[in-house]
Amino acid sequence: MRAWAVVENGAPLREIELPTPEPVGTQVLLAVTHCGVCHSDLHIWEGFYDIGGGRTLSLKDRGVVLPLAMGHEIVGRVVKLGPDATGGVKEGDLRIVYPWVGCGVCAQCQAEEDNMCLTPRSLGVYQNGGYGTHVVAPHPRHLVDPGTLDPAIAATYACSGITVYSAIRKVLPLPPEEPVVLVGAGGLGLNAIAILRALGHKRIVSVDVSADKLAAAKEAGATDTVDASAGDATQRIVQLCNGPVGAIIDLVNGTTTARFAFDALRKGGKLIQVGLFGGELMLSLPLMAMRALTVQGSYVGSPKELRELVGLAQGGKVPPIPVTMVPQNQADEALMRLRAGKVTGRIVLRAEAA
Ligand SMILES: [Zn+2]
Ligand SMILES: [Zn+2]
Repeated sequence: MRAWAVVENGAPLREIELPTPEPVGTQVLLAVTHCGVCHSDLHIWEGFYDIGGGRTLSLKDRGVVLPLAMGHEIVGRVVKLGPDATGGVKEGDLRIVYPWVGCGVCAQCQAEEDNMCLTPRSLGVYQNGGYGTHVVAPHPRHLVDPGTLDPAIAATYACSGITVYSAIRKVLPLPPEEPVVLVGAGGLGLNAIAILRALGHKRIVSVDVSADKLAAAKEAGATDTVDASAGDATQRIVQLCNGPVGAIIDLVNGTTTARFAFDALRKGGKLIQVGLFGGELMLSLPLMAMRALTVQGSYVGSPKELRELVGLAQGGKVPPIPVTMVPQNQADEALMRLRAGKVTGRIVLRAEAA
């Protein structure tokens, strides 16, 4: 097999030749047909996260080993089943690959909350992912049938889709007319607008610093937009919503956005932190208590949530986000376009044969 791999952090991806894996036990080998290029790939490629206060979290220290084929928004065709891979898939089936796999044996993994496993083995992070011709899923239960969905769109559900779906689930139920504020109108933001609409939510406020991205958010169905580039984002949000708000999902989650989002919360309000931009947030502890505020992190989603989201999308209610197709062997160029902030929606790598 070939892979477009991180060989050295911060250096261009290199095409490498690897032995094609032989599925053992419950494993399933798939030929990758589509793979989304996610913003978190940039952090994996750089090799660290900014965790605030001038400190960084090294991915090498967390067990990420190079060379690594990144890519965790994968759709592929089943090529070969391991001897114990029973559970409804057969050779030739097209499947979304749930990438946030864990140890497979702990209580969380057994409950299909693999993303809460304490020993993550995520595809495209701790083991090779979709920036290659082939990928191994540990178990058939990690494979979801995209049905009639466009496979390029279906691929994005494995990360950006379930990430926003899981975050949205944490602020709902809310009256449909009550604003849900989404900070960030990139791939995640557009997916969040689509999913909120599919769930019947009416008032969706999109916040970003890019006029192009805000236009895309409006196009995707945001009822209001806030340009945060001027620096008084809290005031603008509060003014637009006729008062402080109850639900904010911060898809950027950097020092600046977390601050203006937190400051816009009403009593009992929830800030769901999703993005991995980096930084820190200082909180007044008595005010947290007196105003009964919630700041909650949300990390990707579970296989159950992926199946729920695909079901929702099958109903035709989730309008597709804009996708730009790029040949798989141009993974490095795609990553650099994302790094330059020049992507509206999602770049999806497509295999030659797909
Ligand atoms: Zn991702
Ligand atoms: Zn586990």
